[in-house]
Amino acid sequence: MKLTLNGRQVEARDGETLLDVTRREGLNVPTLCAEDRVDPMGSCRMCLVEVEGQRRLQPSCAWKAEEGQVVETESDRVKKHRQLLLSMYLADHELDDDDLPRERGTGNKLRQHVLDHGTGPKLPAVEAPRLYRDDANPYVHFEPEACVLCNLCVRYCDEVEAVSAITLAGRGAATTIATVEDKGLLDTTCELCGGCIDVCPTGAMTEKASLLSDFRTETAVRSTCNFCGVGCQLNLHVRDDKVVRVTSPEPGTTVNDGNLCVKGRFATEFINHEDRLTTPLIRGADGQLHEATWDEALDAVAKGLNGIRDRHGSDALGFISSSRCTGEENYLVQKLSRAAFGTNNCHQCAAT
Ligand code: SF4
Ligand code: SF4
Repeated sequence: MKLTLNGRQVEARDGETLLDVTRREGLNVPTLCAEDRVDPMGSCRMCLVEVEGQRRLQPSCAWKAEEGQVVETESDRVKKHRQLLLSMYLADHELDDDDLPRERGTGNKLRQHVLDHGTGPKLPAVEAPRLYRDDANPYVHFEPEACVLCNLCVRYCDEVEAVSAITLAGRGAATTIATVEDKGLLDTTCELCGGCIDVCPTGAMTEKASLLSDFRTETAVRSTCNFCGVGCQLNLHVRDDKVVRVTSPEPGTTVNDGNLCVKGRFATEFINHEDRLTTPLIRGADGQLHEATWDEALDAVAKGLNGIRDRHGSDALGFISSSRCTGEENYLVQKLSRAAFGTNNCHQCAAT
C-alpha cells in the first residue's frame, strides 16, 4: 500500500505499524516503550504522530499503516508534544551527569531523546514516593527513581520469558515495578534471564556488576555461548583481558533474537577460575596427570583409539559428544566416528 509520510509517497506492507514504516524510511521517531519482541502498548506517548483525519496525535507503535494515509512525524504540533512530554519526564527523573554516563541496560534513551529533540518549559520536580525494594539477587538491580513506567520489563518478562515475575504496582506517582509481596527476585518465578535489563530504556533495570564498572573502558567481542548447543550469540565485554559482563547482540540479528538465559548472560566466572584446565593433561606411567602440549595430547588420543580398533575392531570404540558443543562440533564427532573409525557407536548427551 502507499501512504504519504512527511509529504513523500512511501510504501507499507500489510500489518505494518506507522513506526515500522518510519524506521524503514530512516526517520528518528523517538520511543521508550516500543520493542519488536512484545506487543505494542502505546504507554510512553513518545512516538505520537499526526495522522490526517484524527483529532488527536496517535501512537505510531500501535497505529496500523493504511492505504492513502497522510502522516506527519515532524510537524510543529508533534515537535511541541515531544518537547513537553520530555519536560514532564524530566520533572520526575534526573538524568545522570553528562560526563559520567552510567551503564544503563541498552543505554539511556531518555537522555538521547532530550539531546535529539530538546525539551519544553522546565517543570517543577515531582516528589514521587517510590519505595526501594531490598533484593539480594546477585544480578538484577532495580532503581525506581530512573523508571519511566514504560512497562517494557514487565511485558518482556510476561510475553517473551513467560515468567511474569514482575508487575506494575501502586497508583499515581507511587506506581512502580514490583514483585509479589515485594519479595526479592530469587523468591519469585524469576529465571534471572536479564531480559528486563536489556529492554529497559532508561537503565532503571540494570546489571548489579555494571554499577561498579566503567563500561567506557570495555571492548565488546562477539562469541558463541558454550553452555548448550543452541548457539546463542553473545557480546563478551572485555576489560584488562577479562570478561566483565555479557550482553546479547541486537534483537533480530542472531539466532537468539536478543535473548539470553541466566548461564549465558551471567555465568562468566568460570572463564578465569583458578581450577580451570588451561593445558591438556596426560596420565603418565606413574598414574599421575601431567601437563602436555596439544600435539602430545592428540598423538596420545590417536594412539589409544587406533590401538583399540586394531586389537578389538571398530565397534569396540564409542564416541560421545556433548550438548555444550556447537552443531558443527557435534557433526565432526560423528564424522570422526563413522568415516575415520568405521563405527556407528556415536551418541550425544542431549539425545538421551
Ligand atoms: S530477569 Fe528475566 S525472568 Fe527475571 S524479572 Fe527480569 S525478565 Fe523476568
Ligand atoms: S524498569 Fe525500565 S523497562 Fe521497566 S517500566 Fe521502568 S523504565 Fe520501563
